[in-house]
Amino acid sequence: MSKPKRYTVTAALPYTNGPIHIGHLAGVYVPADIYVRYLRLTGNDVAFIGGSDEHGVPITIKAKNEGVSPQDIVDKYHAIIKKSFKEFGITYDNYSRTSAPIHHKTASEFFKTLYDKGEFIEETTEQLYDEKANQFLADRFVTGTCPKCGNEEAYGDQCENCGTSLNATDLINPKSALTGNVPTLKQTKHWFLPLDKHEDFLREWILKGHKKDWKPNVYGQVKSWIDDGLRPRAVTRDLDWGIPVPVEGGEGKVLYVWFDAPIGYISSTKEWAEREGKDWEPYWKDKDTKLVHFIGKDNIVFHCIIFPSMLKAEGSYILPDNVPANEFLNLEGNKLSTSKNWAVWLSEYLKDFPGQQDVLRYVLNANAPETKDNDFTWKDFQARNNNELVAIFGNFINRVVVLTNKYYQGLVPTPSEFTQVDEDTLAAVKAYPNVIASSIERYRFREAGQELMNLARLGNKYLADEEPWKKIKEDEARTQTIMYVALQIASALATLCEPFLPFTSEKLKNILCLSELDAVTQWNDIPNKEVLLPAGHQIGKAELLFSKIEDKTIQEQLDKLEASKKANEAANKQVEPQKDTITFEDFTKLDIRVGTILEAEKMPKTKKLLKLKVDTGIDTRTIVSGIAESFTAEEVVGKKVTVLVNLAPRALRGVESQGMILMTETPDGKLVFVNPDSDKVGNGLQIS
Ligand SMILES: [Zn+2]
Repeated sequence: MSKPKRYTVTAALPYTNGPIHIGHLAGVYVPADIYVRYLRLTGNDVAFIGGSDEHGVPITIKAKNEGVSPQDIVDKYHAIIKKSFKEFGITYDNYSRTSAPIHHKTASEFFKTLYDKGEFIEETTEQLYDEKANQFLADRFVTGTCPKCGNEEAYGDQCENCGTSLNATDLINPKSALTGNVPTLKQTKHWFLPLDKHEDFLREWILKGHKKDWKPNVYGQVKSWIDDGLRPRAVTRDLDWGIPVPVEGGEGKVLYVWFDAPIGYISSTKEWAEREGKDWEPYWKDKDTKLVHFIGKDNIVFHCIIFPSMLKAEGSYILPDNVPANEFLNLEGNKLSTSKNWAVWLSEYLKDFPGQQDVLRYVLNANAPETKDNDFTWKDFQARNNNELVAIFGNFINRVVVLTNKYYQGLVPTPSEFTQVDEDTLAAVKAYPNVIASSIERYRFREAGQELMNLARLGNKYLADEEPWKKIKEDEARTQTIMYVALQIASALATLCEPFLPFTSEKLKNILCLSELDAVTQWNDIPNKEVLLPAGHQIGKAELLFSKIEDKTIQEQLDKLEASKKANEAANKQVEPQKDTITFEDFTKLDIRVGTILEAEKMPKTKKLLKLKVDTGIDTRTIVSGIAESFTAEEVVGKKVTVLVNLAPRALRGVESQGMILMTETPDGKLVFVNPDSDKVGNGLQIS
């Protein structure tokens, strides 16, 4: 495409059954926002479109579990998610939701068009059915073993372990997620999109047409999908939550969430255009529009194969120019997980790091999983903040602003003759917008962010080499020139950092009083304008842009994760398998009695052992018990306990133990007495 007339940029519709975390931000929303902010700064016509994905089975399951309606669930999380995007400066032109009437209408019409054109296959098939719940089990209503990788917890629509997209009937040993029942097969009619029919087009368009410009991870996944052979894909479901199937025979059925969700981009664009008094159609139908989808790798098949096939079948739409999907972000070496609370939630981050959205945006971009899975660690977060944002970017700006105020009452000084170093430095600054732009346009946002930091490094080095704080004493004119050059760099940074550090950009523009200039500095002004900050321009006072993050703060975050890990381990502790069968005679050999602990003392030089005097009803005897890590001696005196009295005596640390107190252990390692919980049982009673 020659220079596009306009851009339609979409970011994956987050699923409204929970809040969003750093993985979502790093994978989709930060790169999308960097891209659109850059496009706007370079004077392009952009529609940045998104919204909440509010249909589908997991929402209905969550609603059922919480005893509320699906609408309650989506209302709650739509509000939370929308707020998080706003707080982190994700500048959607429109953020809609798929439960909106305009979306129901758009998706319904889209289905009807394909139906009328004969683009679907109608098929009565056998689907899994839960007799107990009286319901068909599509998608996440059923779990079982993935036929491809053997993961025992694959869902009926996808295996999260290997990423394979599945039909519920593909699962081995399927189980209903509603009742745990083994489902039966029952006939039902559905409509299918024959993806196999679109194979030639997909091969031509992607495998031939986008070999060079699509990311290798995206291209590779698409290729393997197509090479595996495409099959017809159901676009309807037996469900009552969603968009009703608008044709005869569709009663009681809704559009498959993956059919309706991407159409959400179109309806959200319509909503925006209506509000702004624009025409939505060129943004989706004019071949001079560049359409880009930002998504995570789990959505590649839907955005590169299914949605394009739908658009192609409809006939009047353009296709995406690129789908720069990211891989996954891990957290401290483990997969991010909502259910295991292994995540950094955006709302919690803001509580712990108020006003520091840019730090997270910066670090997530610096570590973005652009070509492979990547790891977020709190140590790296701290290091990038302290060593890059504080020590380089913040330090440079602070020196420039403080010295300008100190030497010239905040007025940009008039330069005298430029040295070669000054000329080279100013020329290097002018080159940065193109360098950064080239990375952004190739969807290499990490590289772009590094180049931005390189510009700050350049400024820092220039000041360190030229030492205006020394020159001020000997050469007034030279100092003025140095500060003038440094101020031009600061001004370039204020504009160029906006896609990456929007809140900082805003602050910096205020400090430099850029709004007092005749025109707002645009991206392309930097290489073209002779002067960014003219001599005599008044700037404001210094203000800290970033602050150092201490070890203690990082430790608190690590402790939080450690607590999640402990809780997960406790929840997942495996139950021991049953031991070999014994006879009743074997059992009766055990003489188990009720007893009472009369005395207790800690065994010297041991961590675990308590020496107990126990009234067994038969006698009072000494028993050594390894319970000292869970109980103090004082705590156990007077306790009623269960004692195995005919265990052969054995010496423990020189004390003969005559029996064993029965205990059990909680998942977090705390011992609990197996105790006869009644006053009426006297010592010596047998347990059998
Ligand atoms: Zn699998």
